[in-house]
Order: sequence, then structure tokens, then C-alpha cells
Amino acid sequence: MKYALVTGGSRGLGRAICIRLSQMGVPVLINYQSNEKAAGEVRDIISAGGGQAQLMQFDVSDRQQVCDVLDEWEKQHPDDYIAYLVNNAGIRRDNVMFMMTDEDWHSVTDTAIDGFFYVTRRLLPRMMMRRHGGRIVNMSSLSGIKGMPGQTNYSAAKAAVIGATKALAQEVAPRGVTVNAVAPGFIETDMTKDLPQDQLRELVPMKRFGRPEEVAALVGFLCSEEAAYITGEVISINGGLL
Ligand code: NAP
Repeated sequence: MKYALVTGGSRGLGRAICIRLSQMGVPVLINYQSNEKAAGEVRDIISAGGGQAQLMQFDVSDRQQVCDVLDEWEKQHPDDYIAYLVNNAGIRRDNVMFMMTDEDWHSVTDTAIDGFFYVTRRLLPRMMMRRHGGRIVNMSSLSGIKGMPGQTNYSAAKAAVIGATKALAQEVAPRGVTVNAVAPGFIETDMTKDLPQDQLRELVPMKRFGRPEEVAALVGFLCSEEAAYITGEVISINGGLL
């Protein structure tokens, strides 16, 4: 059976993506870092809709945890594999650079880019071996495309995700695995709830923040069979904010 793993699946975009993939008939592994209650709610919503979901706790930036948990899952699922990977876990620690601490820098870059690396590297062998295609979707950001003041850490991490997406897409294309990045603008989640939304909304040509379900629909498409020939792309979803 083919499973999906969504990192940071407990809240925000990840939550909507888990629900979307389950609606496409895919059993979902809901990764989270610490918020078990929120992850459990996502599992319950999926179960109530007739889908299959399982919680999977690990810190994506901790190589040992990633390997231990995924080793164990593979041991218990010898005939299954994770065919859909959504590298979505991410955090913000905004500050102007001259005041940015080492912790602000490393926590953001470690989560985004080390997290992408540890989880993806661990899952690639089975994904490529099965030759039934695989899908990797990496969550970047508008910040990674144009850079945002006060976010050198986040912009650097999200730009790195784009570079890695394009490189990996070329490596694994012969095995039928696609690798794409999604670059959202402002989306209504916990991550953006402390921002001055009224001011920021005015900057968006559509005059609103996006909804997690709108991003999830795009990720669902990139994971679908119809998207088999799209790879190495960065798809923006931002209401026209350039
Ligand atoms: P969110 O609401 O703050 O949720 C973050 C999710 O990531 C939570 O599920 C959290 O788990 C998980 N997480 C954080 N650090 C983790 C780690 N080290 N290991 C495993 N899981 C971890 O954020 P969001 O707005 O949904 O953002 C999701 C992704 O989209 C991020 O990569 C973000 O950078 C990107 N993005 C968001 C926006 C936006 O406007 N919201 C725009 C562009 C890009 P817990 O629940 O356990 O804490």
C-alpha cells in the first residue's frame, strides 16, 4: 500500500494537506513535533471521513529521531512504502539581521532544510526502488523567492528548499519520482496570526490571505497521477502578491 507522510501535519497547511490526501484515498502519516492534541484532531477528522491516518511524532531536524521512527515504521510495514512525501514542517523566528541570534538562525534553517534533507534521504531508496512513481512536495515560500526584510533566516531556508527541489528533481526523474516546491504568500494559519493582517491584506492584489485548503488543493494536484510530468517546478500561490 502507498502511504503519504506530511511533516508538520498537525496544524495549518499540513493539517489541510493531510485531510486532502486522505480524501484522495491515501492513508496518511501525520507527523508533528510536540502538539499531539492537534495531530490527534486531524486523525479523528480523517477517520470520521472514512480515511486512514496514523500519528508519527518526530522532530524533522533531528536525524536520529527521523531515522529511528521511520526504521520502525518500515519494519512494521514491509510491504508498504511512503510514496507521497510533503516536507511541510516549518517555523518563523523573525528579526532584523543585526539582532538575530544564533538560535533564531539555526532553528529556522535546521527545520526547513535539514528537515527536508533527513526525511527525504531516508525515504528515497524505497520510493525509487518501487518504480510505481513517487511524489515529493516541498513547502517553500514567497520569502524564498523574493526575500523578506526581517526574515533573512527564513528567506535563506526557503530559497535553499527551492535549489534542493530543482536538483533532486533531476536526480530522481528517471525513477518516475517528481519533486516540486510550493511557494505560498500569506495564508491564514497559526504562523501568521501575530502579523498585522489588516495592513498586509492591502498588499495582496486579491485583498485577502489564502486559506490552507487552497494550498492543500495544489499539493493534492501535485501528488496526483495527472501531475506525473510536472517536476522541478516552484508553484506560487499568493493571491497575486509578487
Ligand atoms: P503552523 O501553523 O505554525 O504549523 C507548523 C507545523 O509544523 C506544525 O504542525 C508543527 O508541529 C510543525 N513543526 C514545526 N517544527 C517542526 C519540527 N522540527 N519537526 C516536526 N514538525 C514541526 O505553520 P503553517 O503556516 O501551517 O506553515 C506550514 C509550512 O508552510 C511551513 O513550512 C511554512 O514555512 C510554510 N509557509 C507558510 C505560510 C503561511 O502564510 N502560513 C506562507 C509560506 C510558507 P506541532 O503542531 O507539533 O508544533
